Amino acid sequence: MSWFKRKDKKIQTPSEQKAKIPEGLWVKCNQCKEIVYRKEVEANQMVCPKCNYHFPISPTQRLNLVFGEGKYSFMFREIRPTDPLNFVAAKRYKDQLEKLEKLGKIDEAVVVAEGKLGKINTVVAVMDFSFLGGSMGSVVGEKLTRAVEYCASKKRPLIIFSCSGGARMMEGAISLMQMAKVSAALGLLEKAGIPYISVLTHPTTGGVTASFAMLGDLNIAEPGALIGFAGPRVIQQTIKAELPEGFQRSEFLLEHGMVDRVVDRKNLTEELIKIIRLLYA
Ligand SMILES: [Zn+2]
Repeated sequence: MSWFKRKDKKIQTPSEQKAKIPEGLWVKCNQCKEIVYRKEVEANQMVCPKCNYHFPISPTQRLNLVFGEGKYSFMFREIRPTDPLNFVAAKRYKDQLEKLEKLGKIDEAVVVAEGKLGKINTVVAVMDFSFLGGSMGSVVGEKLTRAVEYCASKKRPLIIFSCSGGARMMEGAISLMQMAKVSAALGLLEKAGIPYISVLTHPTTGGVTASFAMLGDLNIAEPGALIGFAGPRVIQQTIKAELPEGFQRSEFLLEHGMVDRVVDRKNLTEELIKIIRLLYA
C-alpha cells in the first residue's frame, strides 16, 4: 500500500507529450523506437521491418502462424481456475479472475490446441502473458499435464510456447507444485519416444524457466527474448556487479549453451516442421 497518493495529474513536459503516439495506424517499435506502419508490421508476422524486434503476439496469432488461420481445435478449455487460498493482496484474486472471464479470457494463461504441422498431428500449447503475466497456476499446470498425457497416449509431438512471469503467487505453494507436476509428466513423452520442443518467447522467467521451458528435446528461443529465473535487476542487486551486455537475452544464452537455437519468427514454423520430421516421422 502506498502512503501518499498523487492528487493531480502528472505534469507533462512538452517532450513527453510529443512522444505519445495514437493507437491505430502506426506502431512504435520498442527497440529501435521507429514509428512503423502497423499493416507493415502485421504483414511481417509482428516483427519490426527496421530492426527485427519481435513484438509480443497473442496465442491466437501464434496458433495461426503455426497451424494456419483457424486450422486447429482447442483442447481442455473446460478447466477453470479456483481460488483455493481465498487470496487477497492489492486486489482479491477472485475479482481478478472474474474480470478476466468477463473480458472473454476463458483459456486462462495457457491455450492448448491440436492441428497439423507439416501433415503431422501436433499439439501446441501457447502461454498468454495478458492473463496475469502468463503466471503458472494450477490451471496452467493441469492443462499442460493433460496435453502431455494426451500426446504420450496418442503419439503426438508437443510444442510449448512459453511466455511467463513465473509462478502465480495468488495460488501459493499450489502454483509451485505445477513445476514438478509438468516436469514429471514430460518424462512420459521421453519414455514413449515422442518429441517435445520448447519455444521460449519474451519474457520467459521464474518457475516456468526452472521447469518445463528448459526441458525440451530442443529449446528454441525467439530473438531478443528475456529468458532467466530471477530478473537482471534482482541479480545485479544481489551480486553487486555490472552484468554483461545482453545478459539473459536469447543470443547470450545461445552463446553460453543454455538454448539450442535462436530462430526468427518468419522461419520458425518451417524449422519446427523440419525438427519434428527429423525426430519423429
Ligand atoms: Zn524496430
